Amino acid sequence: MGGRGSGRQATNCGKDVTEESTPLDIRKLARSGLLLPGRSFSWQWTVGDRQVSGITIRVAVQSVQLCYQRRSSGESIDQLVHLQSTPCQFGGARQWFTCPTCGKRVAVLYARGKYFTCRTCCSLGYASQKEGLGDRSSRQANKIQKRLGRAAGILHDEGGKPKGMHWPRYLRFKAEHDRLVQIGLQDMGRKLGLIQKLLDQ
Ligand SMILES: [Zn+2]
Repeated sequence: MGGRGSGRQATNCGKDVTEESTPLDIRKLARSGLLLPGRSFSWQWTVGDRQVSGITIRVAVQSVQLCYQRRSSGESIDQLVHLQSTPCQFGGARQWFTCPTCGKRVAVLYARGKYFTCRTCCSLGYASQKEGLGDRSSRQANKIQKRLGRAAGILHDEGGKPKGMHWPRYLRFKAEHDRLVQIGLQDMGRKLGLIQKLLDQ
């Protein structure tokens, strides 16, 4: 998927930003010659000849305004992204985006969710959208714990078959409980790994 600027002056907000990641590369914007304060232009992502999404970019001094509409909800987003510049070895300056979430200097921003962020924040945001799975599993496991007369918490796995409960029923509960705990723990591990990655930067 490649980005391409039409260069025409745009007045309305861009439309159809997809929920998939759309890489916005500041080097391409700079090469297009459109990254000048006061300019406003549309930028499209294409697959083959087909435009799959587009945004409107308004350039100010040391910042850009990204305007687009979410395809899923139709919500209009107007996001301010600060720019930074570093001197080039042979003169001139190189422009960078400042990730609006973590403040890191990056060349490419992605819009996998609602806003454009760096690649790391993008995967973290995506993971938190999916967090429902692990949380749901832990909650269901807790429910089973309760049925078995144990303390809640997926790491409380003590205690055997409650008095009066038939073995087949108990074993069914136990198997389901263990399966849910596995999902909950895997999800927890995945989230911790992503947070660690962000902290390591
Ligand atoms: Zn970031």
